[in-house]
Amino acid sequence: AMRKFIVGNWKMNGTSADLAEIEAIAAMATSYAASVDSALCIPATLIDRATSRLLEYTLGGQDCHMQVSGAHTGCVSAEMLADAGAALTLVGHSERRAGQNETDADIRGKAQAAQNAGLKVIICVGETLEERDAGQALEIVLGQVQKSVPDEAGSDWLSIAYEPVWAIGTGRIPEDSDVAEMHWAIREQLVARFGPDGKNISILYGGSMNGDNAPMLLAIPNVDGGLIGGASLTATKFEPILAAA
Ligand code: 13P
Repeated sequence: AMRKFIVGNWKMNGTSADLAEIEAIAAMATSYAASVDSALCIPATLIDRATSRLLEYTLGGQDCHMQVSGAHTGCVSAEMLADAGAALTLVGHSERRAGQNETDADIRGKAQAAQNAGLKVIICVGETLEERDAGQALEIVLGQVQKSVPDEAGSDWLSIAYEPVWAIGTGRIPEDSDVAEMHWAIREQLVARFGPDGKNISILYGGSMNGDNAPMLLAIPNVDGGLIGGASLTATKFEPILAAA
């Protein structure tokens, strides 16, 4: 089986006062590096200072613009993230799809821009509770994967994160069988579209993952890792997830 990939997402949390915690997470994660790949997506404002302290650990951004530069006040390009020291970025998180009205076409453009800048990319997908209750979860998520993932996708730079919106920050997680069904369906679509390399694209699960449920979630077939919000904010909470991977 593939090595697990465990990624923290700090969202809009963290100032210079938290650089010591980032350092503690990096030190902790490095001690698991023989068995598990790991990264931490931090606020863009901290990447430069954090990477200048932690040359060994993979730090990422949480979004990027699809253009290299230009008249886009307030936006950060993939080149800027890479220049600051990021090695990867998230794109298409549900909080951006909902809060910033990002479309699948936007996310595809951002993913391509990030790859062009030399970043690894995690494209996030997931259904809302309303969509799941209406029996549309598979259709919605497979549509997002189809439209958000660029044609040039490859396992050397791309991962997918399946994050049911209703599981994010709620303490609720799907049934094992629902996670298994979704990850299998995503895998099947990636293989149909990209051939054998689709088998090597990591499919992460995200949404209320923590040290208690990680052993169960990470044992589900086609769950190749996790994208973790709240439980990535401290080394103490993040460590048991790496230990389970
Ligand atoms: P929580 O782990 O806090 O539920 O957040 C998940 C998430 O959105 C990670 O991107």
